[in-house]
Amino acid sequence: ETPVESPSSWGCEHLIDRILIPADVLQRRIAELGAQISRDYAGKDLVLVCVLKGGVMFLTDLMRHITVPHEIDFMAITSYGIGARQSTGVVRILMDLQTNIEGRHVLIVEDIVDSGRTLDHILRLLWTRNPATLRVCALLDKRARREIQVPLDYVGFEIPNVFVFGYGLDLDEKFRNIPFIAVLKADALEE
Ligand code: 5GP
Ligand code: MG
Ligand code: MG
Repeated sequence: ETPVESPSSWGCEHLIDRILIPADVLQRRIAELGAQISRDYAGKDLVLVCVLKGGVMFLTDLMRHITVPHEIDFMAITSYGIGARQSTGVVRILMDLQTNIEGRHVLIVEDIVDSGRTLDHILRLLWTRNPATLRVCALLDKRARREIQVPLDYVGFEIPNVFVFGYGLDLDEKFRNIPFIAVLKADALEE
């Protein structure tokens, strides 16, 4: 049987230029982030806000390492232009939180920060609801592409300006389930 670490198990070997972050490296870093968050939020009323859909894999692995009792909630955001491989910068809320975050310690869990526009929009919106604190934990930081400065409190990995997928991040809505992060092949970019 082909191991799950191998792209050929997932039917995406023809789409992959290289594996950028293998599953074991991801998991080790996520455990470190969870430990750090557990220390920083000890004794605090913590709410994790996961940004759908990309943040789902990261949230569920991260929360297993957060020993502080906490709640989770979800928010769905989109940039106009379905199927686009770049955010258009026009952000729209598809699904809002169910939790009242007023006076609470809120940590946003994001898959990737690229231009920063999506996160900037979320931060502005959530600040209007008067949380006690509002911080950001992003798995990937594509810093070279930043157009709007956004404060990132926890970052898993800084990555170069390449299109990545896997581990929550999609390629045309698929492959969010693969356990590693891969770089899309250049000749698959404009399909
Ligand atoms: P931003 O608003 O920071 O430009 O974009 C954030 C969103 O764009 C992410 O949440 C993600 O949906 C998408 N995005 C940016 N870069 C990538 C990438 O390399 N791969 C994938 N799959 N999505 C990306
Ligand atoms: Mg995201
Ligand atoms: Mg996407």
